[in-house]
Amino acid sequence: MEDVARIDQRDDRNAEGPWFVDTRCIDCGTCRELVPELFGHAGDQSVVAVQPGGPEAEHRAWLAAEACPTRSIGRSPRTPRPAELYPLEVDGPVFDLGHTSEASFGATSYLVLRPDGNLMVDAPRLTRTLARPLDALGGVAQVLLTHRDDVADAPRWAERYGARVWIHEADAVAAPFATDLLQGEEPVLIARGVVAVPVPGHTKGSVAFSVDGTWLFTGDSLAWSHDRQDLIAFRDACWYSWTEQTRSLGRLGTAVNFSWVLPGHGARVRLEPEAAHRRLVALVERMRSTA
Ligand code: SF4
Repeated sequence: MEDVARIDQRDDRNAEGPWFVDTRCIDCGTCRELVPELFGHAGDQSVVAVQPGGPEAEHRAWLAAEACPTRSIGRSPRTPRPAELYPLEVDGPVFDLGHTSEASFGATSYLVLRPDGNLMVDAPRLTRTLARPLDALGGVAQVLLTHRDDVADAPRWAERYGARVWIHEADAVAAPFATDLLQGEEPVLIARGVVAVPVPGHTKGSVAFSVDGTWLFTGDSLAWSHDRQDLIAFRDACWYSWTEQTRSLGRLGTAVNFSWVLPGHGARVRLEPEAAHRRLVALVERMRSTA
């Protein structure tokens, strides 16, 4: 795949100006979740809705470009891409890894720095640009896969660092290289401060990972919506059972505390723990009414 956006495939619906999205966009939504002030939806793909108006906004556009799985975001005339855009600090030890993969439909993956070995939650593309800073940060001790869809280059990262790989047995077919299989529906402490909570629904083997009761990695089971300003679950992208997802998200609220929701798809958010719990309970109520 071309590593730069294709000016000859610029979509006409982009706002007038140097930045554009080309027509190879797969409409994964990652740029819109990450940089909602610049990128918008044109029905079947993303476009530049507002041209960056200064160096800070240009930097934000570059973050979206580096995250895009199809390398559809670019600038004409070209200018040098800033170095080391990722890992991008989100909060404390949590970093967005960018470099999303078309194999996981542009799902966001994360790095969590831990004194007893760093965690990678779901996996980005393995690129030299990303591997260099990860090497410098001490690599990855464990790869936590939230579900079968967001495996991407996990086997290559695991091999690079000799990392353990966790996935639920119900989704294990997507990760035959996994070293550790989660089972059943009970929460499991898998490392100091790290709890795996099975949340079947989006897929049968979906799992949320809680770190230190603060950061909750939710895969495609739970996310924030910029439009609704609330927690959401994806009814139209529920591959296993909406009834099960309703039930398991209800259990999630009693299993762990959290402040951050860090999804694969959809937006991330930080809430006060009490508000996070209240919003999750309200979401489950809404889901029950449509089950
Ligand atoms: S990140 Fe790339 S593929 Fe995904 S919606 Fe944006 S431009 Fe399209």
